[in-house]
Amino acid sequence: MKQKVVVFSQIDTEIYERLNTRYELVQVNPKLGDVNEQIRQMVIDAEGMIGAGRILNEDNLKTAQKLKTISSVSVGYDNYDLAYLKRKGITLTHTPNVLTETTADLAFSLLMSAARLVPKLDRWVKAGQWKRTITPLHFGQDVFGKTIGIIGLGNIGAAIARRAFHGFNMNVLYHSRSEHQEIAQMFGAEYCALDELLQRADFVVLAVDLNASSQHLIGARELALMKSTAVLVNIARGAVLDEQALLNAVKTRQIFAAGLDVYQREPLVESALFDQDYIVTLPHIGSATLETRFKMADLAYRNLVLALEGKMPHHVVI
Ligand code: NAP
Repeated sequence: MKQKVVVFSQIDTEIYERLNTRYELVQVNPKLGDVNEQIRQMVIDAEGMIGAGRILNEDNLKTAQKLKTISSVSVGYDNYDLAYLKRKGITLTHTPNVLTETTADLAFSLLMSAARLVPKLDRWVKAGQWKRTITPLHFGQDVFGKTIGIIGLGNIGAAIARRAFHGFNMNVLYHSRSEHQEIAQMFGAEYCALDELLQRADFVVLAVDLNASSQHLIGARELALMKSTAVLVNIARGAVLDEQALLNAVKTRQIFAAGLDVYQREPLVESALFDQDYIVTLPHIGSATLETRFKMADLAYRNLVLALEGKMPHHVVI
C-alpha cells in the first residue's frame, strides 16, 4: 500500500507527477475553503507532507496519527512550530543552498531599483510625464564603490557580499550573531556591532533567518541611526523589520529609500507602503525563477523520499 502524502501548496508539475507515482497524494486547495480544516482532515492518516508558505502547528496537525516528516520547499522554516514537531518526533527538512544565488540576485535588484528609483521613474515615463529634462527629484544614489552593511552573513548574505565586493567594488560591513572570518576575508568584510553598521553603511541589507533574536531587529531606533542617504533592503522575513517604523523613516526622509520583498502580513493587497514612491515593493519573489523553484521542489522531493524510507534526508532542520 502506498504511503499517503499531503501537498500543502502549489508544486512544480513534474515533481507533482513524481510524487503521484510513488505516493497516495492529496493536495490542499484554497478554493475549497478553510485550508486549516482541509489539513486537519488530510493529515489524519498521512505519513508525509510537502509544500511551503503555510503555518503548520498543533492547531492543524493535532489530528495526525502517522506523520513522520514535513518537507518544506523553502530555506526559511519560521512557519513551523519546531517545539511541537520535536515533541511529536516529526522530522522537518528544508531546501538551503539551491536558492542562494537567485535570492542574492533579487537582493541586488532591489538595492539597485531603490537606489536609482527605477520603478518610480518607470511609472513616471509610462504616465507620459517625461515632457522635459529630468530634475534632481529624479536623481538616485550611487552604488559602485559605496559601503554595504549586510545583517546576517549566512549563505545568502555571503552571496550578496560577493556581488558587492567583486561586482561593485563596495566596502563590505557585516553583522551576524557570530563572526564568520573565513567568508569575511574573501570579501574583505569587516565585522561590526549592529549600531555601527547602521551608522556607516550606505546600503543595509537584511539577510537573517527569522528567530527570536531577529524579530523586529530593525525598528525606529535602528532606522534613526542610518544615514539620510541610505537605502534599506529586506529579503529576509517581514517580522525582522518594523514596517510602520520604516514607513515613517522614508516619509520623513530619515532614510532615502527601501526595497522590500517580504512583509509582516503576506500576501499584501493593501498597504500604506504602496503610497511611497521611495519604497520598492516586490511580492516575496526571492527564489522565484523557473530554474530555482524547480531545484527547490526537486530537493524537497528527495528529502521527503529519504525521510519516508527511514534514511537521513539531505537537509534536516529537526
Ligand atoms: P543562513 O545561511 O542560515 O543564514 C542566516 C544568517 O542570519 C546566519 O548567518 C545567522 O548568523 C544570521 N542571524 C540570525 N539571527 C541573527 C541576528 N539576530 N542578528 C544577526 N544575524 C543573525 O540562511 P540563508 O540561506 O542565508 O537564508 C536567510 C533567510 O533568508 C532565510 O531564513 C529566509 O527567511 C530568507 N529568505 C528569503 C527569501 C525570499 O524569497 N525573500 C528566499 C530565501 C531565503 P549566525 O551564523 O551568526 O548564527
